[in-house]
Amino acid sequence: MPIKSSLYEILGVSQNASQKEIKYAYYELAKKMHPDKISHENITEQEKKKLSDKFKEITSAYETLSDIEKRKKYDKYGDEEHNEFEFMNPFTRFQKQQTKSAKIVQKINVTLEELYTGAKKNISIKKIIACKTCNATGANDPKNIIKCKICKGHGKINIVKQFMNFMQQIQMDCSECSGNGKTILKEHKCKTCNGNKIIEEIVKYEIEIKPGTDTKIPIILENKGNEFPEADLKGDIIIILEQIKHKRFTRNNLNLIYEHDLNVIDALCGTKFIIEHLDGRKISITYENIIEPNKNYYIRTCGMLHKNNHNIKGDLIIKFNIIYPKHITSEQKQEIKRIFNHETKIESTKDISFNAKMEIYTKPIRDEQSDDEYTNENNNNNNNYNTQSGINMQQCSQQ
Ligand SMILES: [Zn+2]
Ligand SMILES: [Zn+2]
Repeated sequence: MPIKSSLYEILGVSQNASQKEIKYAYYELAKKMHPDKISHENITEQEKKKLSDKFKEITSAYETLSDIEKRKKYDKYGDEEHNEFEFMNPFTRFQKQQTKSAKIVQKINVTLEELYTGAKKNISIKKIIACKTCNATGANDPKNIIKCKICKGHGKINIVKQFMNFMQQIQMDCSECSGNGKTILKEHKCKTCNGNKIIEEIVKYEIEIKPGTDTKIPIILENKGNEFPEADLKGDIIIILEQIKHKRFTRNNLNLIYEHDLNVIDALCGTKFIIEHLDGRKISITYENIIEPNKNYYIRTCGMLHKNNHNIKGDLIIKFNIIYPKHITSEQKQEIKRIFNHETKIESTKDISFNAKMEIYTKPIRDEQSDDEYTNENNNNNNNYNTQSGINMQQCSQQ
């Protein structure tokens, strides 16, 4: 029996990793294998399935290790999946041999307000269930299920293929009966499922979004999904939450980031403003010192609640966009200089290579383009590009 990787190995952390390290390791892995992300990537179905299975595996490992109680139990005894004593437990072994219906992955959009205060979301899921009319036999009457004439009930047919100079006999599943040896005549097929044994059903579920829910962790409705008659177990429904971008707040784990436009005069002289929080509370903020751009200002414990422990709260981080006046008159300039007792320092003009004119840059910077785009542009606008670059070179070398 192959030795299975431990839950720690699955997440790539050591056995004495902190809860924080486990969480981080999971997020990093989940980012790469999120079903939503890989569905856009140009990879084969087989690779997609592999990644999606891996995603489930890391999520399941994370579910155990992120829960302190479950982790303790796992450290002591292992779990069903990873129990080294499993061969002694016939029930576990039986469970392992069972097959499960394909999972359903459903994406739902949530607002930041819903994640902050908690919400209930109603979703409709289209799933496959066994046809009840024919009891998943596909026939209007079980006695109308007959032996397949093509394979004579064996389910397999032998075909002879030529391979180089050899004749080779290969056994294949019978296409007439899909390998099960039995068929149903058209007129005897179940009218509900048209002989397919399964039908589609739309089911409604209510999903609870707890305050502080993390969208990086999918919600798994175990055994609530597809019910293929040939599988032993019902499939899971995996709900992936996607947060709709908020106009004013962004979330960074437990912290909330709020951007506030502030006039330069208020930035220097102090300010008072109101933030309407995600639950509608209005917070009045007074600050009498100078507010600097690129600095973060905090209001402690005004961020997101921790989903499982509401005593843990993130912070509200306020970032200021300092708004400068569009124009300034020479009188205003002089007045400001006078108030601040300021003289503009002119650095030495010796050893200057050239005088450059500084402008506001509005176009994307060349360095940010990928090599591909660079080459394309070069090919498409060959002349134009060369001319531009020529002028730039000239400017730099001549002046
Ligand atoms: Zn057949
Ligand atoms: Zn049916």
